[in-house]
Amino acid sequence: MVELCEKPGVPGCVGDGEKHMKTYTIAVLPGDGIGPEVMKEALKVLQVISQAHPVSFKTEEGWIGGAAYDRFGTPLPVETLDLCRRSDAILLGSIGGPKWDNLPTHLRPELGGLLELRKSLCLFANLRPVILFDSVKELSPLAASRILKGVDLLTVRELSSDVYFGEPRHLDDNEGVDTMRYRSHEVQRISKVAFEIAQRRNKKVTSVDKSNVLCSSMLWRKVVTGTAKEYPGIALNHMYVDNAAMQLILNPGQFDVILTSNLFGDILSDESAALAGSLGMMPSASFGLDINLYEPAGGSAPDIAGKGTANPIAQVLSAAMMLEYSFNRPDLGKAIYNAVERALNEGFRTRDLCPAAQSYVTTFEMGDAICRFLNHT
Ligand code: NAD
Repeated sequence: MVELCEKPGVPGCVGDGEKHMKTYTIAVLPGDGIGPEVMKEALKVLQVISQAHPVSFKTEEGWIGGAAYDRFGTPLPVETLDLCRRSDAILLGSIGGPKWDNLPTHLRPELGGLLELRKSLCLFANLRPVILFDSVKELSPLAASRILKGVDLLTVRELSSDVYFGEPRHLDDNEGVDTMRYRSHEVQRISKVAFEIAQRRNKKVTSVDKSNVLCSSMLWRKVVTGTAKEYPGIALNHMYVDNAAMQLILNPGQFDVILTSNLFGDILSDESAALAGSLGMMPSASFGLDINLYEPAGGSAPDIAGKGTANPIAQVLSAAMMLEYSFNRPDLGKAIYNAVERALNEGFRTRDLCPAAQSYVTTFEMGDAICRFLNHT
């Protein structure tokens, strides 16, 4: 649920300052692979926050993914779903791995676990910020180019409709059919999320569609344009998806919030993720009707799981997004962001951030460095 409360004096709200003690309950789902390792560091960071500010976090762990299947025979136990429903927010690690790849579809961590969780909680909006920290920007594939200066964009992708869900849908030997469909209330709902987030950022929304060809996109553009009238402070422009794919490479600094549909967002958010140089730096959030879920954009990284080399920054920044969007404490989210930036500026690098692999810090050491700089800000 996007709760953009700004009433001074209401606990947990922007402008409430430090006056009231507020307890937030968090469903913590570490999952598989590197999930538990990076989650530990994010929880350490939240603990430092609660020691320095009058907020407290009540965390309760739940099982999901392959780990849940091994223990309970299902990747999404009903207890986990209950835990999520009674919490203020969900912090997820990652799920999946080769061990569970050959299970029947409904028992696989990805489909039976994460997709089922998203569906059960009606998560309809996916947010992926691209944050390019100056001290590691040489890792970006566009590193040699001066156009990288000033990249700070966020993709808002519709998550619950479009060609992935439209009917009819079928496959036989001669034909494969998917249906691209949007209804106006779905477009309006996701547009509001994008406009409200833009109000907290640089007040610009680029809506991406293919309205020169597709009927669903024609409706999309009409509804987005209509919804924009409720947000007179936001500059809206429209872009065709083919051009948007090109502009992300040619001039990514032009974007603030990119608003787009499920299929186009699937592709564009991965393209923009590449700009940051490592998946280990990419947080994400999914907004639902009642609750939001925060998780790294990457997967369970089975190739490095258990080695202590995973980058915890994506998980830590996902927790920062949780503070900003679910708990209305952008100040605390910003404090975490600043501590991460400071750790990077001071030369702390996990293995993914130093491809030449001279010397790197462990997952634990990166978490410690972030906590230390958090204490000093
Ligand atoms: P992946 O994102 O797990 O890994 C891709 C590459 O990025 C790997 O080399 C990995 O080591 C690296 N990487 C990812 N996160 C990192 C981090 N924090 N620090 C350092 N390096 C990191 O993608 P994959 O290999 O295609 O998938 C592995 C498993 O994860 C599969 O089972 C897949 O289904 C699952 N998956 C889960 C999610 C999720 O939980 N939301 C998302 C994508 C994939």
